[in-house]
Amino acid sequence: MAGQETFPPPFKTLFARTELDARIAELGAEITRDYQDKGEDLVLIGVLKGSVIFMADLCRAINLPLSMDFMGIASYGDDTKSSGVVQITSDLSKSIEGKHVLIVEDIIDTGLTAHYLFDNLATRHPASVKLCSLLHKPDRTERAVQIDYLGFSVPNKFVVGYGLDIAQKYRNLDFIGYVEE
Ligand code: 5GP
Repeated sequence: MAGQETFPPPFKTLFARTELDARIAELGAEITRDYQDKGEDLVLIGVLKGSVIFMADLCRAINLPLSMDFMGIASYGDDTKSSGVVQITSDLSKSIEGKHVLIVEDIIDTGLTAHYLFDNLATRHPASVKLCSLLHKPDRTERAVQIDYLGFSVPNKFVVGYGLDIAQKYRNLDFIGYVEE
C-alpha cells in the first residue's frame, strides 16, 4: 500500500518475548512471596503509558487479591532526557492510605521521575511504597533510587517496544529492541 512503512522497523532485539515472559514470571513469584500476608492491601500503580503492557503481564503473574490503579505523568524536558520536573496529568482514582503500594515502571533512566513519585506518594500515607521496574539504565543515573524488583539492566541505548515508545509509536511491539546507530 502506498505510504505504508515496513512494520516493525528494523530494530535490534534486546529481549525477545520469551525472555520477557520468563523474567516476569520470576518477578511475579517473588512479589507473591513477599506480599503473601498483605495481598488484600497491595495496590499496583502503573505509570502511564509506558508501563501498561508490563503491568498487564506482571499482574497476572502475581497470585494475590491485589488492586490496580494508574497515574499519568508528564515530564518536562526534551524527548531524550527528563528534567525531573513532573506534572501529574491523571491522578489515582482511590486513596492509598494504609495500602502497600508497588509502583510499576517501564524503565528507570535518570531516576528523576521515580524519585518524584516516591516523594509524592509518601505524602498520601501508604503503609509502604516499593518500586518494580522492567528495565534500568544504570549508566544514566542522576538520582539513585532503590529498585526493589528489577527485570533487566540495559545498556545506554534508547529502547523501544513492549510499552516503550518512540514519539508515541511502537508501544505494541512484542519485544524490546533498540535503534542501531
Ligand atoms: P527518568 O525520569 O528515570 O529519566 O525517566 C523515566 C521515563 O523516561 C521512563 O518512564 C520512560 O517513559 C522514559 N524513557 C527513559 N529511557 C527511555 C528509553 O530508552 N526508551 C523509551 N522509549 N523511553 C525512555
